[in-house]
Amino acid sequence: MGKLAILGGEKAIKSNYVEYCKWPIITKEMEEKVLEILRKGAMSNIELTKEFEREYANLYGMKYGLCHNNGTAAIHSALFGLKIGKGDEVICPSMTYWASCLPVLSLGGTVIFADIDEESLCIDPNDIERHITDRTKAIIVVHYAGYPADMDRIMQLAKKYNLKVLEDCSHSHWCFYKGKLTGTFGDVSAFSLMSGKSFPIGEGGIMLTNDLEIYERAIIFGHYERHSEVTLDYLKKGIGVPWGGYKYRIHQLSSAVGIVLIKIFKEIFEEIDKAMTYFCDLLDTLPGIKTHRPPKNSNSTKGGWYASLAHYNKEELEGLSITRFCEALRAEGVSAYPGCNKPLHLHPLFQNIDIYNDGKPTVIRNSEKDIRSKIGSLPISENIGKKVFSIPRFVKFDKKIIEEVFGAFEKVVKNYKELLKDDKGDPPTIGNWGLTFRI
Ligand SMILES: *Cc1c(COP(=O)(O)O)cnc(C)c1O
Repeated sequence: MGKLAILGGEKAIKSNYVEYCKWPIITKEMEEKVLEILRKGAMSNIELTKEFEREYANLYGMKYGLCHNNGTAAIHSALFGLKIGKGDEVICPSMTYWASCLPVLSLGGTVIFADIDEESLCIDPNDIERHITDRTKAIIVVHYAGYPADMDRIMQLAKKYNLKVLEDCSHSHWCFYKGKLTGTFGDVSAFSLMSGKSFPIGEGGIMLTNDLEIYERAIIFGHYERHSEVTLDYLKKGIGVPWGGYKYRIHQLSSAVGIVLIKIFKEIFEEIDKAMTYFCDLLDTLPGIKTHRPPKNSNSTKGGWYASLAHYNKEELEGLSITRFCEALRAEGVSAYPGCNKPLHLHPLFQNIDIYNDGKPTVIRNSEKDIRSKIGSLPISENIGKKVFSIPRFVKFDKKIIEEVFGAFEKVVKNYKELLKDDKGDPPTIGNWGLTFRI
């Protein structure tokens, strides 16, 4: 098989495989639609946006869709829609992107972190119940890297304790959980539509719900230009200026991309699914690697395979660190990095920073007790960075190219013994606060 590239051998990868991973896919029709809006000077209008959100909501069989300037804003609005306010506790997985729960703090609520399930990387239903108190109002679910969370168990708990559920679908566009779309289980769902995500329209986000009050509260919160649509009396009293003090209107150039993408995304996703299934089937034959995807025949799917990952089991490679393993892969020409999102409960913002000058850490400013999660309290979230790594996400199916990239993995795995000698181990923590921006 040849000497490992990291030890001076030849690179396994000769082709420019990243061409097959290039994202987002921009078509001529998108360009034309964007130009049309630009030429009209209609960037801040909302007609096309309304058309797009109607189509997106229809796709999901949901009553209401409301576009936002990004996914973070859609989550913020959804939380306001759910009436999260002073002292309300919201349970969220610690291992996720910060936007899943950080807006809770600006509403005066309290974030309570739960651990994740090691297999799915989503909130662990077994770790929810112990966090429920009489202040708990909602659970935030993230279908992490497109792997649907265990919605059967989560909805059962929500029902039992009368809790609201917000699905953060920023990773899970068109992902099915046991045959039903993620984003249609909870009371409300929010999707990031930024350029790196599986449904990229530029900067943008969308909130979906079947609940009129959630929808109208979201309008009142950050969409003053639509206040005439509001029908509920207590909201009608304050139309004209946004209650949140936010302006969350999406740029219509993004909606223009969306209106075209919605017609073609299923075809794109089919190709991604075909390519990634082929690739992952190959990778799963190797010791040390188990790709992150729902079991076959579970009727659960990964949609656009956002942020594709694999689990790494170093025991199967005599303890070779994931750091060294990924270094060797990168030397062969594969973009592979250890880690995923860092555990939020250990970030200073969720420990001791006084954001709003209350004279105490914001994370506990409205809580009865000190609810801060201590080091070691959420062990899976704290250690998962050393157990998963990113794998290439093919958006075009090409057997030869995929096999070539697989060949690099195979080469590293087969020669792992040569890597043990100079293995310096892993740093104390691995991961990033954002998946696409490495800090
Ligand atoms: C990207 C992302 C968001 C926020 O979306 P933006 O469009 O970037 O504001 C929220 N939650 C998760 C899990 C994300 O990955």
